[in-house]
Amino acid sequence: MNNFDELLAAVPTGLWIGGRQSDAAEGGVFDVHNPATGEVLASVADATGADALRALDSACRVQGEWAATAPRVRAEILRTAWQLVTDRAEDFALLMTLEMGKALAESRGEVAYGSEFLRWFSEEAPRIQGRYTTAPSGNGRILVTKAPVGPCLAITPWNFPLAMGTRKIGPALAAGCTMIVKPAEATPLTMLLLAQVFADAGLPEGVLSVLTTSDAAGVSGPLMADPRLRKVTFTGSTRVGKVLIEQSAQQVLRTSMELGGNAPFVVFDDADLDAAVDGAMAAKMRNGGEACTAANRLIVANSVREDFTAKLTERIAAMVVGPGWEDGTQIGPLITEKQRDSVAELVDDAVASGARVRTGGGPVDGPGWFYQPTVLDNVATDSRIVAEEIFGPVAAITGFDTEDEAIDAANATEYGLAAYIYTQSLDRSLRVADALESGLVGINCGVISDPAAPFGGVKQSGLGREGGTEGIEEYLETKYIALES
Ligand code: ADP
Repeated sequence: MNNFDELLAAVPTGLWIGGRQSDAAEGGVFDVHNPATGEVLASVADATGADALRALDSACRVQGEWAATAPRVRAEILRTAWQLVTDRAEDFALLMTLEMGKALAESRGEVAYGSEFLRWFSEEAPRIQGRYTTAPSGNGRILVTKAPVGPCLAITPWNFPLAMGTRKIGPALAAGCTMIVKPAEATPLTMLLLAQVFADAGLPEGVLSVLTTSDAAGVSGPLMADPRLRKVTFTGSTRVGKVLIEQSAQQVLRTSMELGGNAPFVVFDDADLDAAVDGAMAAKMRNGGEACTAANRLIVANSVREDFTAKLTERIAAMVVGPGWEDGTQIGPLITEKQRDSVAELVDDAVASGARVRTGGGPVDGPGWFYQPTVLDNVATDSRIVAEEIFGPVAAITGFDTEDEAIDAANATEYGLAAYIYTQSLDRSLRVADALESGLVGINCGVISDPAAPFGGVKQSGLGREGGTEGIEEYLETKYIALES
């Protein structure tokens, strides 16, 4: 436990406002737990609305200066932050494993992926473009410029404690916006360490604040009611996203919403089954299934369903479950007891409606919130597990006969974030990709996310895109300047 203690002692536990740590105005703290043991890892400052307004004051004081800072300078700070996160990759990885539970190898993957948003947007900062044309009438010119939106609030979830922050902070800072981050209550430590890294990278005081709190609405409410805030960017549940969209109407805030998913993973009869099984392992089991892109419904052609299911079951039954920091662990605990109970409820409901348990099927005894990696076959299409986001290591398999049936099943959800298809036919892959109602489609690939590509959903999965060249647009306003001659 020694290196754990050393690491935890080096992580800030105060609110990060104005480039330094401070206590919460009311002096409160709350505990952060290790989901693999249930033990307390640290106590962090518990922000209230008064602290939130203090962070906004500090952001507003420097917003103008940051917007006027040369893009190259903003880029260099982001690039240095990327370098510092990379240099401290092991600290970030272990910290995420401790507070969130994922296997260390996955945490290392998240450090590489999450930090890349900082490097990618450091490269975008100097490439913000406007345009200049002659008006079609010939009587004047059209000048289009881009300006930062202004102070932003980012609210992030616990499942990717680093990456869900960097994909918002990177483009905001590159565009010239200041940002206040409210990380999830379960995993605030990673974001506090990142704030310190940004200070070490030379980010001016006040540009980035981090407010840890056990009262999310008590912090976001006063900020969103304040006319100085100009944008809210959120990743989390559709339920909370809808509340924030409603609240954002009061000040007509710009919004970016990355909400829930219910990804279909469709295996056609002409797929390379081994590749499909590899893809399903990644799309389903990455992050213990706690990802909004996780394959929630495995929709498999009936003619190959048993073969696919048998191969997948063999792989999933062999997965090593345990504390994320132990060698060989592939599946860590779920984030909380409540989350584990919710996965158990969905599985029990599916089994009661006729699903067959091919492996797993229940929680693991002992300390921590572990659930067995599970495969369910013959899942009834009207069971809750097909309609709701599982957010756990459970593969639920249903069958289909025709391509149209597969497309209808894939689209039969109010969500539309990720979709996966496995087929060896180019025609079919493009035809089906076009027909799928989702913001992302993986063709013969089980991991889609890439900082250089636009990530986001349609339908109730959200609004806006993160990453790619599109990501920075979310933090820019377009201004049209008319010239008479
Ligand atoms: P999850 O189900 O993944 O925990 P949530 O949507 O509950 O997703 O949480 C995502 C983020 O939204 C977290 O940072 C959480 O603290 C925050 N949050 C939850 N409820 C509210 C709310 N009413 N207002 C603002 N933020 C909220």
